Amino acid sequence: MGGHLYALDFDGVLCDSCGESSLSALKAAKIRWPWLFHQVDSGMEDWIIDQMHVLRPVVETGYENLLLVRLLVELRVPSIQKSSVADGLSIEGILENWAELKPIIMKEWNEHREPLIDLFGKVRDEWIQNDLSGWIRANRFYPGVADALRFSSSQVYIVTTKQSRFADALLRELAGIVIPTDRIYGLGTGPKVEVLKQLQAKPENEGLTLHFVEDRLATLKNVIKEPALNAWNLYLVRWGYNTQKEREEAESISRIRMLDLPDFSSKLR
Ligand SMILES: [Mg+2]
Repeated sequence: MGGHLYALDFDGVLCDSCGESSLSALKAAKIRWPWLFHQVDSGMEDWIIDQMHVLRPVVETGYENLLLVRLLVELRVPSIQKSSVADGLSIEGILENWAELKPIIMKEWNEHREPLIDLFGKVRDEWIQNDLSGWIRANRFYPGVADALRFSSSQVYIVTTKQSRFADALLRELAGIVIPTDRIYGLGTGPKVEVLKQLQAKPENEGLTLHFVEDRLATLKNVIKEPALNAWNLYLVRWGYNTQKEREEAESISRIRMLDLPDFSSKLR
């Protein structure tokens, strides 16, 4: 009794995977839409990867990276534009309006979520199979996080939109940590609000103080909307994939506490 439960997001809280996810998305986009890349040289590929880092805060689930790659190509090569939104669109415009743009481009490109998720997963699996160390090296854990997890006396769960097998592989191979698979809630286990409800309902978690740590403001706002989740302490991390504007908004929401990396590591212990 009197202990703590931490539900931790993975990408942008524990692990900086932006380099890996951008490269995987570029590989997958070339498979899905090969004709787009006839006019894309290595210089434009570098530009795409750079912009993907800027745009990372809008990504909720990995497959959206594929959509961003294609949209970036349309921005640079107007002759292949198939979406009505690309003309005159800026990086800032994507950052501001991704939630509205996404359904429009998916419809205009005739794309669906599930096949893109499958393809993105397959590309990663192949990369891992052919070059495990290269794939691992494209990711990094934020400083101090691995030790904080290793020595934590709290109950730790991972709640992520990443496929569980990839989170598990990175925890093992990059951080040297084994988290039991029943403590990793990955893509396909339902929305995070539902996972949090499941966690608080587990008999073994009764009486624990609940903490949910995220880098995505929209996800925390979804939790706030659920009265059933009122007991959770909510944290937005300053080091993950969010924008200055989102951090400022979070500071004005009394339910949310901002977290710096050293504080996070010391809290987890
Ligand atoms: Mg995240």
